[in-house]
Amino acid sequence: MTTHVSRRTFLTASALAAGAAVLPRASLAAAPLSGTQGPGVYRYKLGAFELTALYDGTWFLPIDGKFVTNASGAAVNEALAAAFLPPDIMPISITALLVNTGSKLVLIDTGTAGQITDTAGFLNGNLAAAGIRPADIDIVLISHFHPDHINGLRTKDGDKVFPNAQIVVPEPEWTFWMDDGNQSRATGSVFGYFRNAWRIFADIAREVHRFTPGAEIVPGIVSLPAYGHTPGHTAFSVQSGNESMLVMGDTVRNPELFARHPDWQPIFDIDGALAVTTRRRMLDRAAADRMLVGAYHFPFPACGHMIKTATGYELVPSMWRPL
Ligand SMILES: [Zn+2]
Repeated sequence: MTTHVSRRTFLTASALAAGAAVLPRASLAAAPLSGTQGPGVYRYKLGAFELTALYDGTWFLPIDGKFVTNASGAAVNEALAAAFLPPDIMPISITALLVNTGSKLVLIDTGTAGQITDTAGFLNGNLAAAGIRPADIDIVLISHFHPDHINGLRTKDGDKVFPNAQIVVPEPEWTFWMDDGNQSRATGSVFGYFRNAWRIFADIAREVHRFTPGAEIVPGIVSLPAYGHTPGHTAFSVQSGNESMLVMGDTVRNPELFARHPDWQPIFDIDGALAVTTRRRMLDRAAADRMLVGAYHFPFPACGHMIKTATGYELVPSMWRPL
């Protein structure tokens, strides 16, 4: 008995000396670190439709005190800190939504195809992980023409990524971004967005189908004007049976900033005041009707519900669950 106790004491002392929380076992091999994230694919049902959230990555955008035109840099950093995020960087999570209506595969927005930052461009890998080939996509539906939404239509070398898809875009986006006069008046990053839209669309102009926001795209997907972020920015209502979902595009973006502070106007809203009106209208509807919402820059899987608070809105993210 004395021997047993002293052996235990000895082993415990050795383990503590080595800094180990468990006793070392020589028979176990060291486990290598993975060093990579797992697949960014999340499936859920909406009535008879099957939806797949496809993660493209996160763009860690450095921001300064001018990023929100009507709030100080200190206030923005306070909001980031309240969400346990470091200051002066806005993490722009990017998740596209694939809707299988039973007869059509509709991809809403396309990710970055690795053309914006090294930490995004994983959409096609995640599409493969979901068991879907780019050639299977019937329709690519675009919310607006910012690079993080349209660059996934082409590889870096300019090849088409979705060879069989019909490309469907809002008419007012096309009219704004493909206009030479508008481009000539643009400056800075916005000028770059014009050049980029031209790169993506110019030589496929005749294949691109344009719709007037408000129009039905396919049975169960209706477009909704959501102007402000860009002149033709469009949201979508997805409905199957008794269930519906509001796909908000960039109406809100980071919920910790722009749902909690819906009146804040970031510099990349082209018409900041109109964007605020649209944001409040859409968030009010989502909260009042207790609608499922999806949003391109919400944290993965980029869907959930909105609650109205005393000062703004709060995202309640969807819970991971079996299909
Ligand atoms: Zn965006």
